[in-house]
Amino acid sequence: MSRTGKAVVYDAPNQPFVVREYPLRPTRKGEVLVRISMSTICRSDIHSYQGHRPNPCPGVLGHEIIGIIEELGDGVERDMRGDTLAVGDRITWSEYFIPGANYYSDVLDIPQKSPGVDKYGHMAVDTDPHFHGGFAEYCYILPQSWILKLPDVLSDEEATPVNCGVATMIAVTEAAAIGMGDTVVVQGLGLLGLYGCAIARARGARLVIGLDTVASRRELGRRFGADITLDPSAMDEVELVKRVREACRPDGADAVIEVCGYPEVIPAGLQFLRIGGCYTLGGVVNPNSIVRFDANVLLRKLITLRGVHNYHPRHLIQALDFVVANRERFPFRDLVDGKYGLNEVGQAMHDAAERKVLRAAIVP
Ligand SMILES: [Zn+2]
Repeated sequence: MSRTGKAVVYDAPNQPFVVREYPLRPTRKGEVLVRISMSTICRSDIHSYQGHRPNPCPGVLGHEIIGIIEELGDGVERDMRGDTLAVGDRITWSEYFIPGANYYSDVLDIPQKSPGVDKYGHMAVDTDPHFHGGFAEYCYILPQSWILKLPDVLSDEEATPVNCGVATMIAVTEAAAIGMGDTVVVQGLGLLGLYGCAIARARGARLVIGLDTVASRRELGRRFGADITLDPSAMDEVELVKRVREACRPDGADAVIEVCGYPEVIPAGLQFLRIGGCYTLGGVVNPNSIVRFDANVLLRKLITLRGVHNYHPRHLIQALDFVVANRERFPFRDLVDGKYGLNEVGQAMHDAAERKVLRAAIVP
């Protein structure tokens, strides 16, 4: 094992990325040292870098990560499915880890919201063991993470977004209670929305409508299972609601999913729904996402409103199995459309923020 490794650090929001070396130490009980194969830039990395959400600095971003096991700490023998783990295995793991069993994990079954839950790519680089973000050569998987071995059939491009983008949308579509024959509207066709269309299809939706202002994303939406795609900026809200409701006969959509991150789309989204429909929030991750709508509409239409943040460990297994089972049906491999080295993270972040690429990958 080499004694040091490289990590790409930013000292404060919007400051340049700098490649720095940090020491590697032997793994401790419950830890796994991974040599990173690929890390992709998630929208939340961009929000952190731009200072829209608090993130400790100087820090190393990146939580959509896969890698090869370099060293297994004591007590780590199997992945969450029960398969044995060995040096050289390619793995993915939960984007978060928890301090230990607690009321939220054991009683409420929402371990992802445990007090003290922390995420990869969300800690100061000075915090032991330095390597806990994706834009680096190495990452220590810390105790109370959930690990999954990756099958050889998956390319790195298909596998890397599984532990954030795909797992999040498994959680969102589960919360939205999408079932056989449902009509589903997806607000935003970024990576989450595209996976959302595909998963809604796999869950049995009979009609999927995707909304996005970017033409190339609407085009991609159709390849990911959307029957109809609309540009919400090309018409006023009244027209948009009319078009969606007419397509979702007889009374509007069964489920509407917000994954665009803009709270101002919520009032139209509520109007898309049929009586008794479900509205699920998955994109408005930034604080102060203030919006004004008529709460009486929720009441009269018997609407269920749900929020999803992080995901349950079971969603990680479901995400991986969904991608493996549907990789010929949907072009997952095309989603990672830009690759950058460790010394190009600034450019990658810029291209991702400007939406020049859908998912930028950092390959150490
Ligand atoms: Zn993410």
